Parts: sequence; C-alpha cells; structure tokens
Amino acid sequence: MRALPLGEGSNIVFSGDYLGVVIHNTLLGRSVIEEDESSVLIEVAGGENWHQLVTTCLQQGWYGLENLALIPGTVGAAPIQNIGAYGVELADVFDSLNYLAINDPAQATDLVRLDKQQCEFGYRDSVFKHRLRDNACVTSVRLRLSKQPVPNASYPALTQWLKEHELQAVPKTLYQAVCSLRRSKLPDPKRIPNAGSFFKNPVISLAACDAIQKGFADIPCYDAGEGHKKLAAGWMIEKAGWRGRDCDSTGMHRDQALVLVNPAKAKGEQVLRVANAVADSVHAMFNIRLEIEPRIYPRVNP
Ligand code: NAP
Repeated sequence: MRALPLGEGSNIVFSGDYLGVVIHNTLLGRSVIEEDESSVLIEVAGGENWHQLVTTCLQQGWYGLENLALIPGTVGAAPIQNIGAYGVELADVFDSLNYLAINDPAQATDLVRLDKQQCEFGYRDSVFKHRLRDNACVTSVRLRLSKQPVPNASYPALTQWLKEHELQAVPKTLYQAVCSLRRSKLPDPKRIPNAGSFFKNPVISLAACDAIQKGFADIPCYDAGEGHKKLAAGWMIEKAGWRGRDCDSTGMHRDQALVLVNPAKAKGEQVLRVANAVADSVHAMFNIRLEIEPRIYPRVNP
C-alpha cells in the first residue's frame, strides 16, 4: 500500500478518498550545527511550523528568511516546491536535508541526505515534484543563515510599503512589511479555506510572450532566466473575469485572484471543477494552459 507524506495540509487538495497510508509529519526540534561570526547553520525538524521558524530566527538575529514570513505549512514541506515569496526562495538559504524514502522498500529504513544541487530546485519546483514525487518524507532541513542583515527589499510591493511607512529596509521592517502585505491580500486558511496560490505563474518563451503582448500590451512580464519570461497568473485570471467570482462559495478570492477560496467547504471534485473552468477561460483568452500548483490526490489530469 502506498504512503503519502503530509505536513499541515496547506498545499494539498483531495479529489476523492486517498486509498493508502497518510504519514503526518509531526517531528519537532531545532539545533545549531555550526556557527561563526558571519553565519549559522541550523537543522530543523520537518514537522516544525515554517512561520514560527521565520519568527524565531529573526529574534535570534539569524537573517535571510524574513521575506518568507507567514507562508503556511511545515519546514519539511518547504523544499517540495522550493517555497518563495517577495523575491526570495528557500534555495537562497538552503544547505541540505534528510528524507525517508517511504515508498522504496530498498531504502525505507535509512535516512537519505540530499544537498542543494541534488534537490534540483527551480521556480516553485524541486526533485520532489518529479523523480522523488510522493517518495520522500522530509525529516529535517539544514539552512545557512546570515548573522549580518541581508535585507532584500527589491520586490516592488515591499519597496512601496516601506516608503509609505517611512521605514528603512532592515530585517525586522521587511518581516513586518511581508506580514502586513500578506494579511491584507491573502485569506487566512483557518477562516476561509484555501491552498494559497492555486495556479503557477506560467514561464514561457520570449516569442510566446511577444505574441501575447500584441493582444495585451499591459500584461506584466518578468524576466525568468535566459530566453524566458514569467507571466502573472493572477492578472490573467482577473482579466478572464474570475476575480471575486463565486468567492462566497467556491471561487477566486476578491483581493487576490490567484487564490481559490472555498468557504462553502465544497468537496475536492467541485474545487477542481472550478479550477478547470478558470484554466479554460484563461486558455481561451491567452492561449496558455495554467498549471495547478497544490498537490492533488488521487491524481487527476488538470
Ligand atoms: P503580486 O505582488 O501581486 O505580483 C503578482 C505576481 O507577479 C507574483 O506572483 C510575482 O511572481 C510576480 N512579480 C511581481 N513583481 C515581480 C518582480 N519584481 N519580479 C518578478 N516577479 C514579480 O504578488 P502577490 O500575490 O501579492 O504575492 C506576493 C509574493 O508572495 C509573491 O512572490 C508570491 O509568489 C508569494 N505568494 C506565494 C503563494 C503560494 O501559495 N505559493 C501565495 C501567496 C503569495 P512570484 O510569485 O514569482 O514572486
């Protein structure tokens, strides 16, 4: 029988019953592995809450995680999609991790260590979404954090917030800015059920981007590595008329069109029906198929 690793369930949608064993990771603990004047290497158990870790590190004077404040979920889940926000991603501070190969009888009793390169991090992506999909229960993560402030306020929304509040970009103000921005735009999953961004921002070729810009001159396009551009999925969803639509039952959030909210607590099947309708609308308008970001179980074709 297959096993499914689960953290806090913040990025998962069950499209039906899961016929297997669900392993809920509640491993706790944090320790300092090594430190010098400029940095500290910490090891954190996979079941620890991510936001609590961000807060604790800031209080300790260990910097680098501020932009990732308030991301729901556990530390063990963070590498799965290389969590990122406001211009920073986990890979920026990641050192290595240990995992248990839960669906591989040959390795099932030993912890496997992967370094950063072996995790094959990409944009909201890692080896755990491909070759090791569903086979890794991340038991601990090592992060290298700076003891010198390394504020990254390059993200426009952060720059704007700091300006409006007449604050310098230091770790504490960045943390405050991120918490404030997230609270103002993103629904709290405890109050309004949601799984964060429901679609990935599409990364497309320059030629494809040029073609879209001919029809939509104001579409936001961001550099995404050589020969590629990243489009804002939320912008396209809004243009397709879904922002705020059906958001009092099951639909797209009125303050952030990228978040599918489900106050009606509809079953996974209905959630996916709405997601497919949104993706169809965007496809009809932009000729781009949005990819669902949360994990779906049992797997279905979007
Ligand atoms: P936003 O500022 O409204 O921007 C919309 C999108 O445009 C974002 O997804 C962002 O891509 C992209 N973007 C904006 N400025 C950019 C820049 N200077 N360079 C590159 N890309 C840029 O976004 P938001 O909804 O308020 O979210 C703020 C941040 O929190 C984003 O980084 C977002 O990814 C993150 N977030 C993630 C989740 C999740 O569930 N994964 C949920 C909520 C928010 P990026 O997403 O690549 O940054």
